[in-house]
Amino acid sequence: MKERGLLIVFSGPSGVGKGTVRKEIFDTPNHAFEYSVSATTRAPRAGEVDGVDYHFISKEAFEEKIKNNQMLEYAQYVDNYYGTPLDYVNKTLDEGKDVFLEIEVQGAAQIKEKVPDGLFIFLAPPNLDELKARIIGRGTDAPDVIEARMQTAKKEIEMITLYDYAVVNDEVQLAAERVKQIVSAEHFRVNRVMDKYQQMINNFTK
Ligand code: 5GP
Repeated sequence: MKERGLLIVFSGPSGVGKGTVRKEIFDTPNHAFEYSVSATTRAPRAGEVDGVDYHFISKEAFEEKIKNNQMLEYAQYVDNYYGTPLDYVNKTLDEGKDVFLEIEVQGAAQIKEKVPDGLFIFLAPPNLDELKARIIGRGTDAPDVIEARMQTAKKEIEMITLYDYAVVNDEVQLAAERVKQIVSAEHFRVNRVMDKYQQMINNFTK
């Protein structure tokens, strides 16, 4: 039987640039993990492709999947559902491949409960002023909403204690590189490989 793959959970506060860093990771050929396409009830943005960026589904279809335990995790974020389809994750891990999730912090906390031996990577802003500047830069929020988002961001950053690694997003390419290095190193962690060495000892007969 193939060794099961690693579940990589990449998360961090809203506005930190998770999507941009994730795209940078997957746009370069030297990554060795599969991206899990999330399901969402939000409408596609210009240029987004169904099945590539997200599985765009109705609220009813999403709620049906929750009811049938077909989501590894899910969260409601800005009036829409977002979630990780369980089937794809299980199938891909069973094939011995690593699976990469890019999700918000509530979903990451759910996975920490269900899959504690996943690899949890937190993307952090260089500082809160920069995070605020990025949220303002999106140009979509009124001042009171921006203030609310900053309060949420502070709480989200406090959730860093659930994670194994924190990567600062000071520069997209650097952040992407750090994530790839963490994933490579994680495969050599003793508690992930010790069963293999124990078997090696047990099977040695002479
Ligand atoms: P957006 O609408 O900008 O694409 O994503 C909004 C937020 O939802 C981002 O923080 C993104 O990381 C998060 N997100 C995307 N897919 C999932 C998912 O499957 N589960 C959870 N919990 N969050 C997700």
